[in-house]
Order: sequence, then C-alpha cells, then structure tokens
Amino acid sequence: MSIRTAPTPYTPKHTTLGSLDIVRALPVKGRRMVGPWCFLDRFGPLSFTEGMPMDVAPHPHIGLQTVSWLLDGEIAHDDSLRSEAVLRPGGVNVMTSGRAIAHAERTPRDHTGKLNGVQLWTALPDAVRHGEPAFQHVPQVPLIESRGGVTQVFSGSLAGASSPAHHLSPIVGADLTVHAGHALELPLESSFEHALLVLEGQVALEDQALEGGLLYYLPVGRDVMTLSSPAGARVLLVGGEPFPEAILMWWNFVARTPEEIKAAREDWTAGRRFGDVPAYQGPRLDAPALLALKPLETAPNPMS
Ligand code: MN
Repeated sequence: MSIRTAPTPYTPKHTTLGSLDIVRALPVKGRRMVGPWCFLDRFGPLSFTEGMPMDVAPHPHIGLQTVSWLLDGEIAHDDSLRSEAVLRPGGVNVMTSGRAIAHAERTPRDHTGKLNGVQLWTALPDAVRHGEPAFQHVPQVPLIESRGGVTQVFSGSLAGASSPAHHLSPIVGADLTVHAGHALELPLESSFEHALLVLEGQVALEDQALEGGLLYYLPVGRDVMTLSSPAGARVLLVGGEPFPEAILMWWNFVARTPEEIKAAREDWTAGRRFGDVPAYQGPRLDAPALLALKPLETAPNPMS
C-alpha cells in the first residue's frame, strides 16, 4: 500500500550572494537536511545586459559536495584542482571537497544574458569526508520523456534512469517538468525522505496545490507521487536516506566539531590546505569572523 502523506511546507530565507538575490530553501528553520542534502540555494530567473550576476571569488569547502544545476544561462567553474567547466542547462557539476578544495563560480564572458538555477550541497559521510577532492562535469544528464512530462535525473536514480554523477550516500536529485494539463507520476524510494521546490508554474501534489517559494518535505515511507499542472510547471525533487550523523555547518564548511571549523578557517586565512584558483582574476573571499560556536549537542547547525 502506498503512503501519500501530505507534505509539510517550510518557508525559505531571502539572502544575497554578492549582487545575486538568493532564496535559501535549505537549511530552514525546522528542517536542516533532506537525506544528505544540507543546502539549497535558488537563484533567478533573471536577464541581464551588462555585468556578471554571478561572481563568487575563490573560497574554500570541506566535508561536502556542491551540486550545480541550471534551468537557463551558464556558470563557469574553476577550482584548486585546475578543473575548468562551463555549466549549461541539462548538465550538472558535482564538486567533492573531501578534506579541502577551493573554487570560484562566475558568469562567463560568452553568455546568453540569462541566469536561472540552483546550487545544492550534500554532507559527506564521516567515513569519506576527509578524502581526496574531486570535480565532475556531466554535460547531459539522463532524461526520461513521458506523456505527463520530462524527468531529468542529475543525482542518483529515479524512474529507471541513473545520473553518472558520483555521490557517497543514497541520494536522488531531479528536475521534473510537468506538461500542461497532464499528470506526472513517479516512483519514489520509500526508504528516502524527499523535498519538493516549485521552480516554475503552478503545480499540485495529488490534491494539494504547492505554493511557489516554499520547500515541501515528504517523510520516509512514500513510494509514489503524482504531480499535475494546469499550464505546465517545473519542480525540483531532492531526497535520500535520512542522514545518520549530526553535522556542523559554518560558512562554507560542513564538519562535526567547532575545532574542525576553527582549523579550516585558520588554514584558509593562512593560505594553507586549500590551494588557490589560478584561473580566477581577482582577490579571494575572506572568511567571516568566527563567532562562538555552540556545543554540537545543543545546536547541530548553529551558524546556518
Ligand atoms: Mn562554493
């Protein structure tokens, strides 16, 4: 018997990344993670005729993967491994920080004048979080076309399609297009928790209309969902096995203890561990002041 529990809505925060307006759908009050996903920024849609709406100077990461997905436009990625890739719609960039990496992301010189997408992070399990850094560019993820819509699987597996992106715990990430006047039914892994974020248009999950801008959480136990849309819509789906470890997030670091965060910050400030990003012209980002981190047991993710 399938469980079709009504989703729980959470209200994202509005923030900025340089000059770019961001809707931060994870972490939010009351919901820190969905499976291993611990961070979800939504940017755009926007059109521009001058400047670079995305220009994030070199900055460090530990303990996480970044997953970048675009609906429109392009992002140039450069990192301390000397990886270079221009991300475009249909492709995915997955950067595994392991113990240390630095990267920069910017609107490339050759661009369409559009920007619309998401950037997510996954927390790395303790057993692998101190491993080697890596970067993977997938130019085109698997795509399933059906009568009800189009399913693009950028992370994990869904409806028989598997992304070539390399992940380190059970996970799913997909961009779901629901065709106008149709319903898109998808099988879900019942051991996963999931969340939905409307990217475009009006959509309903079974009988419930989903409001744009809210994150909708679906607990474990659900093995199917049906999305429908009167005029067409796009929805982001993320999920995974509930992450079994408490994490500590501060700035661009995912760790377990305040001491690890402090050491990573000191290493970045001193120019140790992370390397530089030679492809980026301009100064790197300074770490913010380290305010007192509360003990992990009272506040798992105090700074996020
Ligand atoms: Mn980053």
